[in-house]
Amino acid sequence: MTPPATTAPATLLVDGTWRAAAESYRRTDPTAPERETGRYASATPADVADAYAAAARAQPAWAGTAATERGELLRWAADLLEARADEATEALIADVGKAHRDARGEVLRGAAILRFHAGAVLQASGGTFSGADPSTLLMSITEPVGVVGAITPWNFPVAIPLWKIAPALVYGNAVVWKPAEAASGSAVLVARLLADAGLPAGVLNLVTGSGRALSEALTQAPELDALTFTGSVGVGQRLRLAVAGREHPAKLGLELGGKNPAVVLADADLPDAAEQIARGAMLQAGQRCTATSRVYVQDEVHDQFLELLVERVRAFTVGDPRDPATDIGPLASAEQRDTVGGYLALARDGDATVACGGGISDGATGFWVEPTVLTDVPDDSPLVRKEIFGPVLCVARVSGFDEALRRANDTPFGLSSAVFTRDLATAMRFATGTRSGLVHVNRETAGVEPHLPFGGLKDSSSTDREQGMAARDFVTHTKTVYVRPR
Ligand code: NAD
Repeated sequence: MTPPATTAPATLLVDGTWRAAAESYRRTDPTAPERETGRYASATPADVADAYAAAARAQPAWAGTAATERGELLRWAADLLEARADEATEALIADVGKAHRDARGEVLRGAAILRFHAGAVLQASGGTFSGADPSTLLMSITEPVGVVGAITPWNFPVAIPLWKIAPALVYGNAVVWKPAEAASGSAVLVARLLADAGLPAGVLNLVTGSGRALSEALTQAPELDALTFTGSVGVGQRLRLAVAGREHPAKLGLELGGKNPAVVLADADLPDAAEQIARGAMLQAGQRCTATSRVYVQDEVHDQFLELLVERVRAFTVGDPRDPATDIGPLASAEQRDTVGGYLALARDGDATVACGGGISDGATGFWVEPTVLTDVPDDSPLVRKEIFGPVLCVARVSGFDEALRRANDTPFGLSSAVFTRDLATAMRFATGTRSGLVHVNRETAGVEPHLPFGGLKDSSSTDREQGMAARDFVTHTKTVYVRPR
């Protein structure tokens, strides 16, 4: 099913029909901001209300289909995504300027996410119990929560929506999805793909448009049972308050920002640590919630490590994201360029010493930024405290493990962290002492597998985990059943 060609873009999928809106917005190419990449309908609150009503109508019949059938549909969607991988890769590059290798990798990961959940739905759930009455069978069963709202960011335009939508659908829920405006092209492609795979009308609804303008409609719909959000801490906090103020409760899952530390100890394999940390900080132009943004290096090896790191960072090719040889494309948008540019100005104005990089384009010819390594940054500088979401890494000197762990943990965030050491006992001390939801030993802080739980501590997440079997908990509820046969 393809959105019909009209002058007004019909990018809202509501109750199985593609519809336009009175207002629309345009997106432009991050490598050439004068080039339009697409126009998209600006959904109104009434469109969102229609989408929720359609989801609520469609959900019971969808939950009534066999789990094997729902899984098969996701498998078919995975096949379709692979068959359309070139188109999806191009949509993703046009949306956010992601380097070809990463864009294609994300598309294939999207297919892997769909396949994981297709199989996961047949795993055991619930349980049986013994109790006070031998003639009564006691059990708990899982059921779909009902209608799931999903609000997604732009930095993984295919993977993040799919790791929310796939488990919601496979466990029998209906979904209303509001993607980031910058990821609109990829979102239309993903919604079309799932419709083409055979999803019944109303089971997945797509509303493109401004999150702020649609916020009340997205959070206050009476049909909403669970809202899952990935994005910035600020918007996450607003959503927490909005959902708390609802008349009828709804579940809320938040995946927010990071300021992820890596610790390099004196016994580490330094060239390998430099390679891992350079990749973790700079690939995808640092626009990953799990990107490495602070490094604490033991005094004895600090200078040697810094030299290796700077050499490796300078070797990255920054350029045209459509060229398969490019390592790092532009930042995703003018807003991103302005934000990252502000932090680089702070560094130049005395908050740091620039070990390499620091340059940023004026924005007229694309949103390019040089991978940047900073030293001598005070611990209270915004460069150390705030999520920059760009290819900017702060390196600091520490006396040893205890100071490194203390400073690594000195942040409101707690998404991912890494330690570089050859000593297993030290690695385990770090793994248990670090205040983050993900820990890597001798690996970059970014990079996750779809079958493992994912999420952070402190301000980085609510307590729920996404991905893997953990994803089931959010999109299902537990019903307790007492059976006394007669
Ligand atoms: P954002 O918070 O600006 O926007 C995310 C989504 O929320 C978008 O769809 C946006 O339209 C919508 N939105 C904005 N204001 C809203 C409102 N008032 N009510 C409802 N929806 C609203 O984030 P972004 O710039 O798209 O993404 C970057 C952020 O996402 C970074 O902070 C990054 O760390 C975070 N992120 C976190 C994870 C994770 O899993 N922890 C993964 C990727 C990105």
